[in-house]
Amino acid sequence: MTLPLHGYAAFNRLWTALSRTVRATPDLAGFARWPQNARFSPRPPAPVPATRQLAGWTEGTAPETAELHHGARMVAPLAEWRLAYSEADAGAHMLANYGFFELAGTRGHFLAEGVRAYLAYWGPGLHYDWHLHEAEEIYYVVSGQALFEAAGEAPAMLGPGQTRAHAANQPHAMTTTDQPLLAVILWRGEGMNGSPRMGRA
Ligand code: ZN
Repeated sequence: MTLPLHGYAAFNRLWTALSRTVRATPDLAGFARWPQNARFSPRPPAPVPATRQLAGWTEGTAPETAELHHGARMVAPLAEWRLAYSEADAGAHMLANYGFFELAGTRGHFLAEGVRAYLAYWGPGLHYDWHLHEAEEIYYVVSGQALFEAAGEAPAMLGPGQTRAHAANQPHAMTTTDQPLLAVILWRGEGMNGSPRMGRA
């Protein structure tokens, strides 16, 4: 059996759920012009160790984000997952317990300009050390909880439906609780096609 268009139906359900969430969440709706009629672009599945963790995550999710969570789980085995860091930069433990895929963007499962939309997963008890990037960013927590830290701001424990924005080149870090974290991350602006790097400056 072959999957038509590499799982178009599953990706389209996730895209629809995300578009609905963006419309209903002023912080997200105001972040960037949301792509209309974004074209599906088949990409080869590329699982990472975290793929199975997300695909099997069924407990402790929030009703208000259930559609997004379920959509991400269904897409997980079909998505082109990436890791932004080498083992030397992030450590083997993090690389074995995190990953992300680009749902929309210039290299996304949906082609879009002006914004990149990622789904990202971190396992429980994980410290994502201080890092920065030129792109402006906003996190939207889908499931789980994590402590968000950013230079010049008070730390905040965020859960489902909550957002956190980072300015261009503002160092930030994140620590998950005893639960994993699933988040939507949007990027915009200069450096949107760049990569994050570890560091505090
Ligand atoms: Zn970031």
